[in-house]
Amino acid sequence: MGTDTAEFSFELRTCRWAEREWPPDERETDAYPLVARQLGTKRRRWDTIVLECDPSALRERAKFGPKRLDSDLLHVVRNAPRAWTYYRDALPDPGYPWRYVRESVHRAADRGVLDTRKQGNRIQIRRKWPYPAWVERIVAIENKPDLDASAARALASQLEFDVGMALADEVWVATRQTDGRVEPVLFEDLPVEAGILVLNSATLDAEIAWHPRQLAVEEPGTRIIERPGGGDRDGSAARFEFADPDAKAETRLAIAERAYERGWRSFVETMRPDCRRFTLRERDGTQLVPYCTAKDCQPTGAECGGSCSKFEPEPPAWRTRGWPIEGGPGKRCQQLLAARRRRRRPGQNH
Ligand code: SF4
Repeated sequence: MGTDTAEFSFELRTCRWAEREWPPDERETDAYPLVARQLGTKRRRWDTIVLECDPSALRERAKFGPKRLDSDLLHVVRNAPRAWTYYRDALPDPGYPWRYVRESVHRAADRGVLDTRKQGNRIQIRRKWPYPAWVERIVAIENKPDLDASAARALASQLEFDVGMALADEVWVATRQTDGRVEPVLFEDLPVEAGILVLNSATLDAEIAWHPRQLAVEEPGTRIIERPGGGDRDGSAARFEFADPDAKAETRLAIAERAYERGWRSFVETMRPDCRRFTLRERDGTQLVPYCTAKDCQPTGAECGGSCSKFEPEPPAWRTRGWPIEGGPGKRCQQLLAARRRRRRPGQNH
């Protein structure tokens, strides 16, 4: 198995484990874990994200539909008043032209998440439901099935960035369980704030090799943008960039909204389920993973794409024989995964 395939496969197992077992420590919590993958900011994308959600607030969130609310829509629905009000009086000054806000008001109304009406030539708005505080904590996990010294070094700077910015409440490295212990020397390369989780990807048992620290999500985040070159004569200071807590809170919510929409089964969206060689296989009776019958392996998104030399389109006959509505087995795969994602979103119609 190639490195990419091994990492992708391990990543899907981590997601499945997190969905079933989170949290790994003894902490008493009734938070509901919602798992997504490959999300983050422009600068940093996390492999796996676990949102710890307030269960009843999560049900309230479902009223706003399965799609994410982007930051413009959030600005509108979070500030919409109880009673009819002219939208410019109701919403805080956005810091950009009001005509963009008006567009967001129309988009929110089209999505059915905001009431609007016209009074003369003024648009009034009224909230349908309060937007709930559904995200309690955000946890980021980096998956490194083979955590050797060079993998640990490569990860260190990414984790330092996570610790400095403190966008997530916790960061972890998940690594594969082997016969030996995880060498403690590896920890030396990683920031002490990052937790280390050892996962048996066959049985989905995990143990904590190192506990993470809670990061300061409500304080300004820092990022080193320039380090002194070093050497005896270099007296220059490192330069830092700061992220203020309000901006961080907005970014966290935007990430959470994307995670809510995508989950972790969205891998199929970047693959070719319309290829006749694409199938889903069941692991441990509960987890559907992609499988390519031409290559006899679990392909990655990069392999199973437009440039795959073994791609064979689904024969049109498949789409008419027994699949009149769904549109072929490929579509059926997508629907199966979407149905599983919905099941993990309490309050969404099944
Ligand atoms: S042959 Fe290529 S495109 Fe088809 S399922 Fe396999 S990897 Fe994907």
